[in-house]
Amino acid sequence: MKLNTLLWLGLALGSSPAWCEDIAQVLQRSQQMRLEQLPEVPATEAAAAALHASFQRLQAFSAGAADAELRVVAVGAVAETAQGRVIVMNVALGALPEICRLFLIAHELGHVTNGHWSQRIALYRQFIPGEVVQAQTDAVAPQLGRAASMQSQQQELDADAYAMRTLLDMGYSREDLLDMFFRLGNHGATATHPSTGKRLAQLRAIDEERRMAATSGGP
Ligand SMILES: [Zn+2]
Repeated sequence: MKLNTLLWLGLALGSSPAWCEDIAQVLQRSQQMRLEQLPEVPATEAAAAALHASFQRLQAFSAGAADAELRVVAVGAVAETAQGRVIVMNVALGALPEICRLFLIAHELGHVTNGHWSQRIALYRQFIPGEVVQAQTDAVAPQLGRAASMQSQQQELDADAYAMRTLLDMGYSREDLLDMFFRLGNHGATATHPSTGKRLAQLRAIDEERRMAATSGGP
């Protein structure tokens, strides 16, 4: 998830009074508002069609794909999952090599399959248990911000692990995947995402695990 949920929460609260709403409703509503601001690029456009084709290929390998929906958009974030099941991808990603498209979509499917949106709502509920009142949310915002950031970092690593396993299942090699990761570029850690170095280290560890399992399972 690349979205700053705390920021959305601020926007949702600022845009209309959220009286008698609990935090799950506020979060759901702010994502709905965001989705409504992201018009879909028709699948007749080549770059959008390429993303839909990759999504369809992934359906045979990902249990999460059956519950998910792909929406290709021309504006907004690069790739994110809204409401736990709507995968939003910028149409610019349609121009990337297929392995990159597959990895980015599989990463979002990892968020869907692992129930990350429900985990996020549960975390917010711990800090904001009842009706949402701005004075109370302001009071817990720093602690909630730190907890949400930690949760997000872990969710990103889990989504990467899911994408890596899925692409290995599809027959891509460790070298293909490392090469793909380098092509996606090197990024430092942010509030929501671990650094590329940390993500790569995890990818290597997963590959190592699979090799060990393959050799120890042999005759
Ligand atoms: Zn992610």
